[in-house]
Amino acid sequence: MFSDSYRCRACSHEFTIDHKGFWVGPLPASRDRSSIEEFMARYTQSFHCSPCGLELTMPSLLLRIDWLYWRDRFQSDYSRYPFLRVLVSRIEATFAGQPWRVELGDISCPYCGVSLEAGSFQPSCPHCRSHDLGHIDQWHSQIRDPWPPLV
Ligand SMILES: [Zn+2]
Ligand SMILES: [Zn+2]
Repeated sequence: MFSDSYRCRACSHEFTIDHKGFWVGPLPASRDRSSIEEFMARYTQSFHCSPCGLELTMPSLLLRIDWLYWRDRFQSDYSRYPFLRVLVSRIEATFAGQPWRVELGDISCPYCGVSLEAGSFQPSCPHCRSHDLGHIDQWHSQIRDPWPPLV
């Protein structure tokens, strides 16, 4: 995982965001950029919490067989996170036949408890909320504990 530091052009505040990215559900068949973007546009939805630097990508449209494969294969990864365990069972509970469209309603940020906002994460200044930021640096976080932090 990685961290970015920024300087806000509006208020000059400097700050660092530790990106906490969660992906729930089947992965794109191929890892090149255009396949991933197409897969994400068709089959996934994104949510985020700006203050926590959290981004959640989860299914919007599922094939039953792909979901079951992912659920079993990655159980040891996601089951460490109560947040993800609950999400997986909430997604599972929406199944009522194909096509399987996933809508969960409200999802709380596991770090701060505030409802996640729809859409992908965009960094904003923690002081003044401005999105007008200068990027200073990016580095890989040196972390021994599980990352993102367990929630
Ligand atoms: Zn949060
Ligand atoms: Zn600012």
